[in-house]
Amino acid sequence: MPRPIQAQVHTDALAHNLERARAAAPDARVWAVVKANAYGHGVGLAFAGLRGADGFALLDLHEAEVLRALDWRGPILLLEGAFEPRDLELCSRLGLWHVVHCEEQIDWLANHKTQAPHRVFLKMNSGMNRLGFTPAAFRSAWTRLQALPQVEEVTLMTHFADADGEAGVSRQMSRFDAATNDLPGERSLSNSAALLRHGLKNDWVRAGILLYGSSPDFPEHDIHHWQLQPTMTLRSKIIAVQRLEPGDAVGYGSRFVADRAMRIGIVACGYADGYPRHCGTGTPILVDGRRSGTVGRVSMDMLVADLSALPDAGIGSEVTLWGRGPAGSMLAIDEVAFAAGTIGYELMCAVAARVPISVSPAV
Ligand SMILES: *Cc1c(COP(=O)(O)O)cnc(C)c1O
Repeated sequence: MPRPIQAQVHTDALAHNLERARAAAPDARVWAVVKANAYGHGVGLAFAGLRGADGFALLDLHEAEVLRALDWRGPILLLEGAFEPRDLELCSRLGLWHVVHCEEQIDWLANHKTQAPHRVFLKMNSGMNRLGFTPAAFRSAWTRLQALPQVEEVTLMTHFADADGEAGVSRQMSRFDAATNDLPGERSLSNSAALLRHGLKNDWVRAGILLYGSSPDFPEHDIHHWQLQPTMTLRSKIIAVQRLEPGDAVGYGSRFVADRAMRIGIVACGYADGYPRHCGTGTPILVDGRRSGTVGRVSMDMLVADLSALPDAGIGSEVTLWGRGPAGSMLAIDEVAFAAGTIGYELMCAVAARVPISVSPAV
């Protein structure tokens, strides 16, 4: 019998969340962002739920090859563009669209031999200071690209640092607008947070985290507020039960000491499965679909759930670490991430290779 831990990807929820993205930007086309192995879901499994998207955005060339092998003929966008000149050969061969964020990438394009000119997304650094041309350098980059026979069409793009927070997008938007208002071409601006919180005009939105059923601005808004559904369930089982007396400690470092008689369940899930080690006592967890909390430190292969209020729970009880539980119960990944001092993105990307992933409902 394998360890009882498993992950499930919910294709129906992916399709539902994609519809939410469409509803939030009815005039835009939607890139489903599937970078980082579709935020840990697996590109192939995510594709099964997201095939209604207008295109797929990612950054690993191998993931683009996977999508083409799945017979996706529509647009694919490389969000960081080419990493070296010969990547452009793959772009030509697979018909990939790509971001251009620096002069070197324009040089590579100018030297690239291709029959089919490329669709490029010219990226402006409007304030995040990772990738892109400054507003002052943007126009000359655009002019250079327009003049290249290797380029078919240039879309104008930027990325927001604070779309999920108080600062918002206005500062970056005014820089972007000032530098581009007389340039023709389509625009691609919004990530999930901008899409849900700021009604910006976009030709192409780039929806990532919202597709995977995590709120981009938790805890201000949860997934119920945005009408999103969890797309990944991580579940396991209780493999042992202990009874504690007051003064008994639990786990490494004896970090938790009982102040009353307690019943605890040992769950086959630990940080080597991708469950965050930084979750303190009280992190929400479902046992047989009923809400409880963790106790003590998370160890490599196990963690502990409080069963004191769940007298029927015992060995074999189903434990939902996040996602869909039995009988319609649900635990949002954002709540667990919050307890670990991180965000849903990190948890879903970190599910370990030793955890088997399946699809539900089956496709
Ligand atoms: C990852 C990414 C996105 C998607 O961001 P979410 O917050 O997950 O919606 C959009 N645009 C770019 C350039 C990205 O790298």
